[in-house]
Amino acid sequence: MFPSRFRYEAPRSLDEAIGLLGDGGDYAKVLAGGQSLVPMMKLRFASPELLVDINNVPGLDYHRADPDGSLRIGALCRHADLEYSGLLKSTQPTMAAAAPLVADPLVRNRGTLVGSLCHADPQGDWTSVLLALGGSVVAAGPRGRRTVPLAEFVSGPFENVLEHDEIAVEAVVPPAAGARAGGYLKLERRVGDFATVGVAVAIETSGADVIRAGIALTGVGGSTIGATEAAAALTGQPLTADGIAEAAGLAAAAAQPRTDHRGTAEYKRNLVRVFVTRILSGSLEPGETAVTPDTVTPDTGTERAA
Ligand SMILES: Cc1cc2nc3c(=O)[nH]c(=O)nc-3n(C[C@H](O)[C@H](O)[C@H](O)COP(=O)(O)OP(=O)(O)OC[C@H]3O[C@@H](n4cnc5c(N)ncnc54)[C@H](O)[C@@H]3O)c2cc1C
Repeated sequence: MFPSRFRYEAPRSLDEAIGLLGDGGDYAKVLAGGQSLVPMMKLRFASPELLVDINNVPGLDYHRADPDGSLRIGALCRHADLEYSGLLKSTQPTMAAAAPLVADPLVRNRGTLVGSLCHADPQGDWTSVLLALGGSVVAAGPRGRRTVPLAEFVSGPFENVLEHDEIAVEAVVPPAAGARAGGYLKLERRVGDFATVGVAVAIETSGADVIRAGIALTGVGGSTIGATEAAAALTGQPLTADGIAEAAGLAAAAAQPRTDHRGTAEYKRNLVRVFVTRILSGSLEPGETAVTPDTVTPDTGTERAA
């Protein structure tokens, strides 16, 4: 199918882009990587009258660590930039595990992390990862800039809290207070598929204790789910097999899966439990095991359906 007729603008500055969005009102949309918006326009699930392509706006294609340890990811930083990032590999285990699992190489070359957060697909991988990490989005508009925690940024399936004349200019991951550990596991029917189930776990430890934990779930509800009770169960104590089992059970209870062509609700709920256990088992002290060795995958990576 072909999209509806639309006007196309490619501004060369952020101010110009914001001005165009203001003029376009509710009928204007930002175009970043186009990997979600263009298919939706072709299917006529989206019919914007004005497309504001931000790809010519300079200075948005970065990801960098600030001196305080925060990670900033600009609106034109592609999934592929993150997949091959040495900075992520050395400082952000949960993000580094997720980056190669987003879509396929073609999509990763164009699609952006910030665009994924704005798209707010319940099956989007980055929203879970940033939620687990306590991330936020910086929005710029005619009234200035504001920072919105991710838990508030996504207001529902395919919905965010941006005003019509605001652009998400960057995503921010706060600095770690301790040593980071964690991962992302995803069951997909084939390489490049959206998640049947995805689980993001991010913990920070000081000495033996977990001092911060975040767990978020992809594809098992109408929106990305923050498993806050599961994360709280891990915090303030050492990571133990019993603690992991409790957190895994609470995360599975937080999931709201539906039976569909990808699997039964019970199957998906059990996968949440298994994935939380596997990711956290990789963070146990040597000699401790949470589940039997033949079912543990201590490193993170994609889990493919048989
Ligand atoms: C075949 C295929 C497989 C895929 N598989 C996966 C997958 O496994 N996991 C996954 O997470 N994603 C997957 N995706 C989606 C992909 O990751 C997209 O890149 C991503 O969802 C959107 O990023 P984008 O930069 O392409 O945004 P666009 O498509 O350009 O925009 C998406 C939406 O966000 C808005 N938007 C984008 N950037 C901004 C901004 N800076 N400020 C304000 N609004 C903005 C747009 O107006 C639009 O409404 C897949 C896509 C395809 C085509």
